[in-house]
Amino acid sequence: MIKTITYLGLGTMGSGMASNLLKAGYKLAVWNRSAEKCEPFARKGARVADTPADAVREVDLVMYCLSNDQAVEEVVFGPKGILSGIREGQIAIDMSTVLPQTSLQEQGAYAKRGVDFLDVPVFGSKRESAEAKLWIMAAGKKAVFEKVKPVLEHLGQTVHYFGKNGNATAMKLVGNLIVALELEALAEGLVLAQKAGLDLTTVMEVVKVADFRSPLLVSNGQNILKRNFSPSFALKLMLKDVNLIGKFSESLESPAPALRVVQKNLKSAVALGFGQENASALIRALEKEASVEVKARSVK
Ligand code: NAP
Repeated sequence: MIKTITYLGLGTMGSGMASNLLKAGYKLAVWNRSAEKCEPFARKGARVADTPADAVREVDLVMYCLSNDQAVEEVVFGPKGILSGIREGQIAIDMSTVLPQTSLQEQGAYAKRGVDFLDVPVFGSKRESAEAKLWIMAAGKKAVFEKVKPVLEHLGQTVHYFGKNGNATAMKLVGNLIVALELEALAEGLVLAQKAGLDLTTVMEVVKVADFRSPLLVSNGQNILKRNFSPSFALKLMLKDVNLIGKFSESLESPAPALRVVQKNLKSAVALGFGQENASALIRALEKEASVEVKARSVK
């Protein structure tokens, strides 16, 4: 049974998950590149480590959620990285959104040390992470998954098992392809509605109930109308994911033509200086092209 856990990467997603592990009663150690993000966890009794290698000492499970493949490369494989501290019998799980190929490289490197590895990416954002309502996917050995599942159930509302390593990461990219196209559809639809002179509050009332409704369209649409682009999922991370999906789909010769349109608009929004805003700020690229600003007078 897992009792002791290390969490590395206390960003938007990691900080919510680490808090919920403490609430669930696990003994926790934490590490983050910018050390100040560890302070709230230290106050709640977590051990704060100086390096990833030190952080993973003597725990049952090592979990991390980092920005991208490069961050995983540094934190896992780098000097004083996880691999230099982890020991046989421990389990590691990567919750970052990365290429499936990266998950396989991690699995191979851990296996050489007698360490089991699962790729465990998530759907949901800042709120779902904080409220333990994530939608979680896991891949790797089934027996290892069964050991880790009770921990994951403290973090999410669903946990799906995807079979061999890399498959959960692949599912994450499939899901984010759909997310990217939904955000593009929302942005194009709202700009058109604005140009057509429709009342945008009423437009969103229809989006909320019609047969094409989705929670993602509703929350992002309402925030766009309020001009609230504070990041739950940063636009620069959406662009990172779209780039990963592009590589992944190309490697499998799977067509993704609409993805290229989203990629172009995300790049334009970054060039306009909106990379740190929420991914829904993708609309700013279209607004510039259309010379409009999508904004409601009041949002219900
Ligand atoms: P974030 O708030 O930007 O946090 C990123 C974390 O990675 C921080 O702890 C950061 O450390 C660390 N990091 C970045 N580069 C690093 C490096 N070179 N070495 C060491 N640590 C490094 O991002 P997030 O929103 O939590 O996302 C984390 C992962 O989850 C990403 O792969 C993202 O695609 C995925 N994801 C995000 C969401 C979402 O809605 N936000 C949803 C699902 C999946 P510092 O604090 O020092 O910068």
